[in-house]
Amino acid sequence: MKYTAFLIKYAEIAIKGKNRGLFEDALIRQIRLALKRGEGEFEVSKASGRVYIECLTDYDLEETVENLRHVFGITGICPVVHVEDEGFDRLSEQVIAYLDEVYPDKQKSFKVHARRARKNYPLDSQEINMELGGRILDRFPQMRVDVHEPEILLNVEIRERIYIYSEIIPGPGGMPVGTNGKGMLLLSGGIDSPVAGYMIGKRGVKLDAVYFHAPPYTSERAKQKVVDLAKQIALYTGPIYLHVINFTDIQLAIYERCPKDELTIIMRRYMMRIAEDLAKQSGCLGLITGESIGQVASQTMQSLAATNEVCTMPVYRPLIGFDKQEIIRISEKIGTYETSILPYEDCCTIFVAKHPVTKPNVNEIRRSEKRLMQDKKAEGPAQGDTGKNIDMLYREAMESDELIVVG
Ligand code: ATP
Ligand code: MG
Repeated sequence: MKYTAFLIKYAEIAIKGKNRGLFEDALIRQIRLALKRGEGEFEVSKASGRVYIECLTDYDLEETVENLRHVFGITGICPVVHVEDEGFDRLSEQVIAYLDEVYPDKQKSFKVHARRARKNYPLDSQEINMELGGRILDRFPQMRVDVHEPEILLNVEIRERIYIYSEIIPGPGGMPVGTNGKGMLLLSGGIDSPVAGYMIGKRGVKLDAVYFHAPPYTSERAKQKVVDLAKQIALYTGPIYLHVINFTDIQLAIYERCPKDELTIIMRRYMMRIAEDLAKQSGCLGLITGESIGQVASQTMQSLAATNEVCTMPVYRPLIGFDKQEIIRISEKIGTYETSILPYEDCCTIFVAKHPVTKPNVNEIRRSEKRLMQDKKAEGPAQGDTGKNIDMLYREAMESDELIVVG
């Protein structure tokens, strides 16, 4: 079937009262971005409370639908056939040809749902329903009418041209990106944080991201893996500004100067501090992580409290109550799983202690962090620790910021 347009269905954005226009504009912007990834020219517009996509040139149906299935805010994608108004007999033939092609199996119930948006059409909606229904039954006696739960709801809309559609391909739901501010995603190469980004993006939040890189302990390939994950998330959210921060010296200083069982917590606190500074600089309203209660030692309630203590911004943890298996299922669905399980080290796996604290005491953690505040130059650096005080290391980490725009 050669579809000439798509009618886009959306749910939540319709309930937003006077904000509706803003939501539709964001939806249209995201649709345009998504369509640019594929072949063909399209015109996206809103008319009488709906969003339409007109196909101006040849295009690839599968690819186009796939791109639209990445646009948050869309609940349904209806491929439409446009026909000219050449009288009711001609319309009946076209509707029958449409059904014949789209539904090879005719053992189906149906209902015609006509809408006469152009009032000068000679038949009213009810008459169109009755008359078309009759002609369809004459041509396909195997079909039957079911006005309550039809398998095929055949929409016929009479406008300047006539729109015929019946299929609804599910969209991802959620709200269009750009309708709910911006957040800073702490993106590692793992399974969880890409899923966290997807989930918050789905609520209409635009994403920036930060990755803490620890060369040479983490390889270029590990960094590339994070860039690839960001690209996959960007298919849903649109372009992402990914900050890559060189975290090596901070990590070595913690490793050398702080108790081994507190390494992860202290390291996580510095990640959060840096992420928050970056977030403030770029107008983000919150931080986003892939943490989930009890998943690892650094994600017990006590550890999360210790990590959270350094943040003044809200930290969004959309996976907080999810099991690993549930998270994996989403990562498979959104296409990040295969990349996430590539075996390159992330910085947390190299500097982990054998027996990390599971119930850190915040006062003790603060005391341990004090050891980072003195210059250790006098004693000379050990094991790669630069010996510089943490303020200096922090400044250097911020200066190392490499910005990569993906998507
Ligand atoms: P993930 O699968 O997302 O890596 P994880 O189960 O491995 O999560 P942790 O390594 O404890 O858990 O990290 C918890 C969260 O901290 C991550 O979900 C991510 O948001 C953030 N994070 C961890 N390491 C990094 C990193 N190198 N760069 C950026 N963010 C990170
Ligand atoms: Mg991780």
